[in-house]
Amino acid sequence: MSAKLIKGAEVAAQIRAELKKEVEELKAKHNVTPGLVTILVGEDPASVSYVTAKQKTSHELGFYSIQDNQSPDITEDTLLALIDKYNKDPKIHGILVQLPLPKHIDSNKVLYAIDPDKDVDAFHPVNVGRLCIGTGIFLPCTPAGCKELINRGYGDPKGKELVVVGRSNIVGKPMVNIMLQKAPGANATVTVVHTGTPQEKIIEHCRRADILVVAAGVPKYVKGDWVKEGACVIDVGVNRIGVTESGKAKLCGDVDFDEVKEKAGCITPVPGGVGPMTITMLMSNTVMAAKHAAGLV
Ligand code: NAP
Repeated sequence: MSAKLIKGAEVAAQIRAELKKEVEELKAKHNVTPGLVTILVGEDPASVSYVTAKQKTSHELGFYSIQDNQSPDITEDTLLALIDKYNKDPKIHGILVQLPLPKHIDSNKVLYAIDPDKDVDAFHPVNVGRLCIGTGIFLPCTPAGCKELINRGYGDPKGKELVVVGRSNIVGKPMVNIMLQKAPGANATVTVVHTGTPQEKIIEHCRRADILVVAAGVPKYVKGDWVKEGACVIDVGVNRIGVTESGKAKLCGDVDFDEVKEKAGCITPVPGGVGPMTITMLMSNTVMAAKHAAGLV
């Protein structure tokens, strides 16, 4: 059997088209324009390219959009004052501080200064708590993207055995919390495995998963014989394993794609699976934040 590919770029394009329509309606019916500020400190090339991509997408969707570039020498107090300014700006619904920040700045202090209702990355402890108790207005972008890929590429996860490999604060733990909620598109029976789980138990849990989400940061970790026939496999991993002939980074996931695609029913490729979803979910969160601020949700 060769698995169906769940193509992140196609699903992301579908969601962006839905968002664009929603933004047009928000403007026409409610005079609300979603506003996003991306704050970039310094000129780290990877950060510049992430922020540029976020700005480009927000412009395409018709947002009010600001890219705020700050010197790498900015003091923590000045950055906190900037956050405070955007917290109070009614035209801004989403504030994104591109990480990493320079070493002299306490990243947590900055992230925790963002108004939780404008925290479109959903990293603020208030949003982590809201997610756990099921009252979150938006979900952390990467696991939210995984949820969309499962829902649109596989089907309803309700009652399915869902196993998450990895328990990081940005992927594994929020993935668990999202999928165990008694909510549409979730409501799965969730297990999480990590380095504290004996290796033979990891394999045992993976083998009984209807849906397997892998976020371990270990290249080609999950093998073909760890996967149940017909399972849905979501590979979050992005590992650089060399350079292509054209000089680009050669990437692979945390799943041994060639082996696993022969067992799985559907699978996300790397690149082109989870990756393209992350920015789209940030845009979705910004639209949600704007609707929330306007009292529409
Ligand atoms: P992380 O912070 O390094 O966490 C990795 C998690 O996997 C940890 O909980 C760790 O367990 C667990 N783990 C590591 N080795 C393991 C093993 N051999 N068996 C079982 N569990 C193991 O990584 P992350 O930030 O969650 O990212 C995971 C992967 O996703 C990385 O490849 C990253 O580049 C990628 N990623 C992609 C996107 C995207 O947009 N596509 C976004 C974020 C991350 P312990 O807790 O016990 O140490």
